Amino acid sequence: MKAAIFEKPGLDNLKVDDSAEKPKHTDHDVLVRVNTVGVNPIDHFAVSGARQVKPLPHIPGAEISGIIEKIGDHVEEDNLKEGDKVIIHNKVFDGTCDMCLEGLDMLCRNGGLIGVVTNGGFAEYIAVPDKNVFKIPDDMGWDLAASLPVTTLTPYHALKDASLQVNESVLIFGASGNTGMMAIQFARKMGAKVIAVSKNEQVKDFGADYIINDYEKVVEQVREITQGKMADVVLNSVGVEAWQCSFDSIGVNGRVVTFGALTGADVKINVQSLYLRQVKLIGSTGGTRKQLKDVLSMSNQLKIKVWKRFKLEETKDALQALFAKDRDGRILIDVGRS
Ligand SMILES: [Zn+2]
Repeated sequence: MKAAIFEKPGLDNLKVDDSAEKPKHTDHDVLVRVNTVGVNPIDHFAVSGARQVKPLPHIPGAEISGIIEKIGDHVEEDNLKEGDKVIIHNKVFDGTCDMCLEGLDMLCRNGGLIGVVTNGGFAEYIAVPDKNVFKIPDDMGWDLAASLPVTTLTPYHALKDASLQVNESVLIFGASGNTGMMAIQFARKMGAKVIAVSKNEQVKDFGADYIINDYEKVVEQVREITQGKMADVVLNSVGVEAWQCSFDSIGVNGRVVTFGALTGADVKINVQSLYLRQVKLIGSTGGTRKQLKDVLSMSNQLKIKVWKRFKLEETKDALQALFAKDRDGRILIDVGRS
């Protein structure tokens, strides 16, 4: 089958050809014909060698939507049938460790990510366990479908982890980024006052109540907007660049949540300032299968912005586009039309 594949890490070693075998599905697997895949930093890390992958040669691709081609003989999810439109929960999990038993399958002690510890979706087909396959409505667009398992689930889980409450204020850095725009929409639904940090006025269309377009002025403006209370929750997926600003903008009993570090991961922290204000620092990753279901049930109210789309043959360009300065919205690969 056609796939984007590499034998040795490095973007230049990635090629698209017919050398990969069509995956065999076991009795408990579902074989999915890939339609549209989202391109995320994790895919770049997998190809560049920043994340160790297996097997080799390796097919990356972590955010996958498609159509069921075949169902294994012993698949237990009886709501799945051939021809269904589906998305794939991108976590490999055993279902038996203590984390899985708590419902925290993304933290499985024996798990990992599809596209990292297994072959991913930059290919015509992928076979995955039935528990990873979620049926989507027939009328859902592929762009949104290919944006639910990572881009949408991650900020939803982060806001849940932060226990964001009605009437609280949430400060969102990287608000015009893909996860940022989703975070704004969820925070609004949760009844919070949304303060977006972005140079892009468009964040207003996604539901931001206030926009701050200058890092230098964040603390001062948050103070003004919250009448001195400061933010109850700060969402920082940007990393070190927004760190001090995040920390200075959080109020007493506030929660700072992080799920990304694009500008760097090493930050300084004053622990006294942390405990005196009883600030909670929360690391968040991915999301649970239950939360993916939540997200699916709200999907008809969610908006996504697509910046560029590529064919499978153009996977390298798609990965390079991730770090373009003028990037404005999602990068997708339309495997189905390649
Ligand atoms: Zn587990």
